[in-house]
Amino acid sequence: MVDVPNVRLNNGVEIPQFGFGVFQIPPERTAEIVRTAFEAGYRHIDTAQGYRNEEGVGQAVRESGLSRDEVFITTKLDNSRHGDPVPALEESLKRLGTDHVDLFLIHWPRPRHDQYVQAWKGLEQLLADGRARAIGVSNFQVPHLQRLAEETGTVPAVNQIELHPRLRQAELRAYHRENAIATEAWSPLFQGGDLLDEPVLADMAARHGKTPAQVVLRWHVQLGNIVFPKSATPARIAENIDVFDFELSAQDVAAIDALDTGTRRGPDPDTFG
Ligand code: NAD
Repeated sequence: MVDVPNVRLNNGVEIPQFGFGVFQIPPERTAEIVRTAFEAGYRHIDTAQGYRNEEGVGQAVRESGLSRDEVFITTKLDNSRHGDPVPALEESLKRLGTDHVDLFLIHWPRPRHDQYVQAWKGLEQLLADGRARAIGVSNFQVPHLQRLAEETGTVPAVNQIELHPRLRQAELRAYHRENAIATEAWSPLFQGGDLLDEPVLADMAARHGKTPAQVVLRWHVQLGNIVFPKSATPARIAENIDVFDFELSAQDVAAIDALDTGTRRGPDPDTFG
């Protein structure tokens, strides 16, 4: 069984650094695929209200034979629910079949709607009453994080952002480091695509006896990012988590860093939603 290290969040809660993302996993296949991930050693699942597959995640936990406290579950507040995050999480808990989540995130800041500070105050309430063991944000830019710092009393435990070798997010990562916010990397593999065809990754993969996907995931782990690649294919699910038996050199890391072109795969957080 793979030995995944934990990252200690700013409120002391421990999160497995490596997890499984279920964006675009069809609801009717989620339970089966998440069970496959548990069998491969994953213990951290990243879902969202908007993915419409929380029921399948809950079903997989119940069918896995694992106890609730062996599994770390993250869900995210839907963009339409910034005004009522408390009932929104209560609905998630019913779908997941649990009385708490391990991490609850504001999915997108939607700055034009200007409700994320109000939403954050709801998450603070959920943290205080134990229905979320930790709270954080996703897709927040530095000014959004600064605004939470000025107007509320809780520093987000994490900021989950698009991050991969084509978009290293140096500025946000520096802000996170200075403010004790853990960095979670979404689309860590650039959603597959042509990143994995880069010759530099193929060379490195051959040298380490690994695949280009494993090299990219190992780069994330060595940067300290929390990652949860998605796959619906059992062989890839097992391949992706098998990154704890080799080490990239400082030169390898620098060569992957050099692939940064500032390219987003997903929407711009300043305008999305
Ligand atoms: P990802 O970078 O994990 O890429 C997944 C895709 O990469 C797969 O569909 C497959 O095509 C390919 N792939 C996976 N393993 C591979 C392998 N071993 N070899 C070759 N190709 C492989 O992209 P993602 O699903 O967008 O991101 C991961 C998770 O991040 C999501 O499931 C979700 O939990 C989270 N996420 C969050 C946000 C957000 O706004 N907070 C947005 C997108 C994703």
